Amino acid sequence: MTRYVFITGGVVSSLGKGIASASLASLFKLRGFNVSLQKLDPYINLDPGTMSPIQHGEVFVTRDGAETDLDLGHYERFVGIEMSQDSNVTAGRVYSNVINKERKGDYLGSTVQVVPHITDEIKRLIIVGAKKSDIAFVEVGGTVGDIESLPFLESIRQFGLELGAKNSLFIHLTLLPYIDVTKEIKTKPTQHSVKELRSIGIQPDILLCRAKDSLNDNLKKKIALFTNVSKDAVFSAEDADSIYDIPIMLKGQKMDDFIVSHFSIRGKKSNIKPWIDYKNKVNKCNKKIKIAMIGKYVDLEDSYKSLNEALYHAGIINMAQVDIKYLDSDKINKNNINELSKMDGILVPGGFGNRGIEGKVLAAEFARRNKIPYFGICLGMQISVIEFARNVIKLKKANSTEFDMRTSNPVIALVEEWKDSSGKKIIADKDNYGGTMRLGSQQCSIIKNSLAHRMYKKIRIDERHRHRYEVNSNFLEYFESSDLIFSGKSTKEGLMEIIELKNHPWYLGCQFHPEFTSSPLTGHPLFNGFIAASKQGSA
Ligand code: GLN
Repeated sequence: MTRYVFITGGVVSSLGKGIASASLASLFKLRGFNVSLQKLDPYINLDPGTMSPIQHGEVFVTRDGAETDLDLGHYERFVGIEMSQDSNVTAGRVYSNVINKERKGDYLGSTVQVVPHITDEIKRLIIVGAKKSDIAFVEVGGTVGDIESLPFLESIRQFGLELGAKNSLFIHLTLLPYIDVTKEIKTKPTQHSVKELRSIGIQPDILLCRAKDSLNDNLKKKIALFTNVSKDAVFSAEDADSIYDIPIMLKGQKMDDFIVSHFSIRGKKSNIKPWIDYKNKVNKCNKKIKIAMIGKYVDLEDSYKSLNEALYHAGIINMAQVDIKYLDSDKINKNNINELSKMDGILVPGGFGNRGIEGKVLAAEFARRNKIPYFGICLGMQISVIEFARNVIKLKKANSTEFDMRTSNPVIALVEEWKDSSGKKIIADKDNYGGTMRLGSQQCSIIKNSLAHRMYKKIRIDERHRHRYEVNSNFLEYFESSDLIFSGKSTKEGLMEIIELKNHPWYLGCQFHPEFTSSPLTGHPLFNGFIAASKQGSA
């Protein structure tokens, strides 16, 4: 039977609940348990696909094509298991399901209410998400006290009761602020947060306290007294140098042993050698590699979460630390483009809409002409094709129809546009903007002896997509005898998936998002190769 660990957060948001959940789940996976992870998000959007990354952070795409919360990226990276459509449940999804059922007549005769109809649907989705694992980790997004979280908290309260105390466990992650002036750690916000949680019927079994330093015994005793939690169930989560140190930190306090004995289950003896080896390796990585990330969501690093992690992983694989310089593509122009010569590598990430496009085109051109390693991801690949078409093939108007609907050289366009010979503009189904993307994992076939082949060391790969526009096949003949080669195509439809340049040390663009499948221990072949090339050229 499945045991459930529910993780809630208090005091403030952004405490790292996702990382804590993922780290804990990793400890259980390493003890031989089958684990699952799920994120419950209280907002009304069906999924975060239509939200701005600057507000919400990156949209993480699962193998089966769900657009999800970035915490799912942590789950995959820490635990090494694949998330799916069922792993992220939003209030929007819950309400939409319930309303659909109501219209179908499933509740005939009843008044449809939050309790029991919404809460029953949440419990049903939690069970689906647990996938019959030994231990299901269920993280509730938001902060206790938010109006929106209430139906989710009520559902886990009910579910905990149904499961019984021995089969469910509640962890509350809180903050202990440090007051600089008096040099003390304050426990009051945590006391209040637990009080709030208890007022809705949830007594936490464990408190995980974020603080600048680890908690001493006195503090633990005080927190325990005021929150009705036993002292040995108060754990510290102090600031760490790297998020990948967190599993070691939790293990050091035997948090997994506490949970194992709560559930009265037996697993293998814990083994966290992979994380310890990783930490030791990280400590030996001194060389710094400067990578320019030319994006438009640079004000919030979380917008590029998986990318940041993938670059970090690739750095460690290459025994180096990647120093990412976030540059706003809107501010890049002919007068300052030479600044990029200080960089060891240039990366143009994914993105939507035309703001900052010309700055990215300039960066791609700079990397091509100056033989600086270049990695273009999704939009970054489309930018490379536009740049090359304009400046080398001399198709001066080359553009994507995403940025210029009427361009005479639509080298990038919606498939419907380039297949339509009448030239009539076909807009991506604007009535259903949240669901018109090429999403999820698809197979790509790679040309032998290409750079991509050297990186992947195989000719069939599966990578995840999230985009609407494609390289326009009607323009391929222009590139035929040029230095730009299309080295990867989707196996099924023959769409262009990877481009690279001959006569360049390392220049590659891919239509998919390799960052979603990078892992700390193995990195990702393309990122590993990009950083290796950047390291070679670095001073
Ligand atoms: N905006 C581009 C498209 O829709 C690229 C998307 C992306 O970079 N994820 O095709």
